[in-house]
Amino acid sequence: MNDDVQLNARQEMDMLVADSLKKSKAKPNVAFAKLSDLSKVMSKGIVEWSRVNSLWPLQFGLACCAMELMDFGSARVDAERKGFLLFRATPRQADVMLVAGWVTKSMVPEVKRLYEQMSQPRYVIAFGECATCGGPWWESYNIIKGIDQVLPVDVYVAGCPPRPENLFSALMKLQKKVGGKIEY
Ligand code: SF4
Repeated sequence: MNDDVQLNARQEMDMLVADSLKKSKAKPNVAFAKLSDLSKVMSKGIVEWSRVNSLWPLQFGLACCAMELMDFGSARVDAERKGFLLFRATPRQADVMLVAGWVTKSMVPEVKRLYEQMSQPRYVIAFGECATCGGPWWESYNIIKGIDQVLPVDVYVAGCPPRPENLFSALMKLQKKVGGKIEY
């Protein structure tokens, strides 16, 4: 470096980086490009981690499966250990819809409205046979053959009634899906 030339801090830093990168033959702007991307990468990971660990279900039930949903909140299941018990009374603070029970055709617009009011990204769990396929009411004139006819379902829970433990397992599966560990 010529000692007569006065460099400002930015020029000095550019020169130092260029000198150090000559050894690895990388382009001079690689280090800065990585620094600028670092915040994006870090925030992406934090946002993903927060989403995985803060699944907040909407508090509502449609039929007898809702009894199992109440049992899910009991000490026996202890769903709180995974943070699954933050049931929200308003859809704007919830991101998981647990469809517990059969859905009548007259209830479809209301369930869809609740779903649309939920914060994004939002997820749906079909809890039990009725929410999955209509269950015992398969041939009913007024009950739809599964909530997936009107909403995108992420996880299905089998059973009539389904066990609360299965809901625990479904939420853990949903965590994996939200975290990008499984796709289906
Ligand atoms: S799946 Fe069985 S327990 Fe659940 S709502 Fe339907 S009939 Fe009731």
